[in-house]
Amino acid sequence: MSIQILSEEVASQIAAGEVVERPASVVKELIENALDAGADQITILIREAGKRLIEVVDNGAGIPAGELNLAVHRHATSKLKDAADLFRVSTLGFRGEALASIGSVSHLSLISRVQREDLGAGIKVEGGEITPPTQLGMPPGTTVRVEHLFYNVPARLKFLKTDRTEKRHINDVVSRYGLANPGVRFKLHHDDELVFQTSGSGDLREVISTIYGVEKGRKVIEVFSEDDVLKVTGFISPPGLTRSNRNEMLFFVNQRPVQDPALSKSLTQAYHTLLMKGRYPIASLFLELPPEKVDVNVHPTKAEVRFEDKGDIFRSLGRAARRALLAHTPVPEVGSLGGARLWGGPAPDHRDVQRRIDPTWEMAGETHQEGIFARGLESQQIPADIGTPILRLIGQVAATYLIAEGPDGLYLIDQHAAHERILFEKFMAAKNQNIPSQILLESVVVEFSPSSADLVNEFLPLLKKLGFELEDFGPGAYVIRAVPALLQGVSPVAMLKAAVEDLEVDETPLEKNIEEKIIARVCKRAAVKAGQILSPEESKQLMLDLEACQSPRTCPHGRPTMIHLSVDLLERKFGRTGPM
Ligand code: ADP
Ligand code: MG
Repeated sequence: MSIQILSEEVASQIAAGEVVERPASVVKELIENALDAGADQITILIREAGKRLIEVVDNGAGIPAGELNLAVHRHATSKLKDAADLFRVSTLGFRGEALASIGSVSHLSLISRVQREDLGAGIKVEGGEITPPTQLGMPPGTTVRVEHLFYNVPARLKFLKTDRTEKRHINDVVSRYGLANPGVRFKLHHDDELVFQTSGSGDLREVISTIYGVEKGRKVIEVFSEDDVLKVTGFISPPGLTRSNRNEMLFFVNQRPVQDPALSKSLTQAYHTLLMKGRYPIASLFLELPPEKVDVNVHPTKAEVRFEDKGDIFRSLGRAARRALLAHTPVPEVGSLGGARLWGGPAPDHRDVQRRIDPTWEMAGETHQEGIFARGLESQQIPADIGTPILRLIGQVAATYLIAEGPDGLYLIDQHAAHERILFEKFMAAKNQNIPSQILLESVVVEFSPSSADLVNEFLPLLKKLGFELEDFGPGAYVIRAVPALLQGVSPVAMLKAAVEDLEVDETPLEKNIEEKIIARVCKRAAVKAGQILSPEESKQLMLDLEACQSPRTCPHGRPTMIHLSVDLLERKFGRTGPM
């Protein structure tokens, strides 16, 4: 075959492959265009998770009738004139590709009116064919309708996730731009239902409250710092307010949402010693730096950027966050631990600090490996499937481990892991006859972000089966009426949030799988913590309950609940074996 230049249509479809991955990508491009046009009101209407319709209405500058055709033309943009402009891009768009790409994989209509004209004009694009402009009456601004997305790319359509997931991606995109632009009034509708709206008052904390709930909005800490590298503004969470994933750490570079693992890492490091392992802060941080110091043209969807002075930027960000955190919670710096520590885990003073700052703090999994066992006294791990021997309690060490004597030596039991196992098995045993719930004397209201609320709604029957009784309480909010009776004494909100976090991480959870995961998660939340002093009676009960378990040797996540130091091992270590 000889070399040929691709037709405009094929070239656009190839470009669309990069720019338009899913409905949320269309939403992103259209919002960016509206923002670039200076709109301060943007309304987004979605039908069938964006597969049927995505419509974005703005009150921005509009497109003159004579330029509508150009707008949907590939590499046509009003935002760049020459190559030099590429190095100081201050608009969100500049590649002139989005509308052409979207038009090549959907039925697109574009109507617009500039302020100075009395009428607007509209065109339609279908399969690369553009209809001539027609006049129509409308308020100033632009409306883009994208219907039947991917109608001509069945492969893309097939790879879309469930409606729930696609909606969640859309919600995330709109939330992000809402956070980045507190001065813009956003409204998002799914199938005629208003999912959320921001007021456009310019108050970021208010937007955070709208998107993440009033409680988080109240708790977040303001960051403000400016040095010769960078200006950083926005909000971060206090150490007690964390997530199990990085999804709520948002960064904006010159108002553009940016994904850069190095940025999340710099921020997480600023929390050094304040977060337990596997927990991440929440953040909406705005980095401002001269446009020529950052290259935005490295990624087709512009989600990644390249910084000129990387190291300086990350350090400056880390400092800004650290300063805000310390101003909020003065934390004594933990010096070097010095001297040998006999038992695993951080030094006690360090733990106290952690616990004071974050009551949910638990000993991080890795610290179990430290201490005497890792230092030469190899412990004996017992296969998980055999039961526990009858144990006699000796006491508790480091408010974390129970020590017991068994028929063959010493046993150290991790109280948290053991309790997790006990609760998990009780739950699983009760599961098939409907888990008993306990009605709360005082019902509690809990708020979710729109996408989490979607999940809660979808999984209501499962949550009910697990013993949670929830009642709708307006957008994003639920009243907790009852919780699983097995888990008395745990904050109902913490329990429910733990359950929902699991739904969030999974893209398309398997019913069976998810149920067990939720139970494991909730049990983790409900189990006694490391650092909690147990009375001898409580300790004994815990050991008895553990003995009754089917797999008492590991927690539901697979960590050991106990370590055995056999008499034999003790003898060897004390040099008692061999000729005396
Ligand atoms: P880019 O945003 O990279 O320039 P697009 O394909 O997204 O490319 O848009 C092409 C052009 O159409 C833009 O440069 C802009 O002039 C015009 N345009 C698109 N959407 C809007 C809008 N909502 N309001 C005003 N002008 C718009
Ligand atoms: Mg654009």
